[in-house]
Amino acid sequence: MVDKKYIALGVLAVALVLLYRDKASVPAYFSINDINSKGQPVPDEYRANAAELVKNLNIIQDELYKINPSYKINFTSTYRTPEHNASAGGVNNSRHLTAQAADFKVDGLDAQLVQKIVKRLVDGGKIKAGGVGEGESFTHYDIRGYKTSWTYTNGSGSGTTSSEWKSSQNQNRVIPVATKETAFYNDIDV
Ligand SMILES: [Zn+2]
Repeated sequence: MVDKKYIALGVLAVALVLLYRDKASVPAYFSINDINSKGQPVPDEYRANAAELVKNLNIIQDELYKINPSYKINFTSTYRTPEHNASAGGVNNSRHLTAQAADFKVDGLDAQLVQKIVKRLVDGGKIKAGGVGEGESFTHYDIRGYKTSWTYTNGSGSGTTSSEWKSSQNQNRVIPVATKETAFYNDIDV
């Protein structure tokens, strides 16, 4: 006969594990199907890239959600076929060609703030280090594996790159810490 005390302890342990697992996991806001070139799916050779990109995009979306549940990523460009990339004015070695990059907007949030939030996630080791393209109205994020950022000139992808953030002088600006219950939009430092 097992003591009721041990049964209760067992139930508690299972509950704690489930609770922890729930807190540690990030919801699947996006799937690999969201990475496509005007509806054309990512070819097999780049599926692993797309899966890794999605994993990081889910973390970005979760952070935005925790700042304000209304902040939703809307993709303007993800994977691009060579033809699509050429028509979009992408550079020849664009990470979009290998399903390692996404351009997106967040309704209600200035792109400049989105870019800071993405960089903060990289700096905090929450998402993979990569490129952050600082568009006026959109953000480019890619999973190249090292930090770099640039601005766009003449609407195309040209700009300067380095092994650090281009806008490093802005990194000390305060961006609010996300909590699920509170909307911080009015407190965000523009
Ligand atoms: Zn891009």
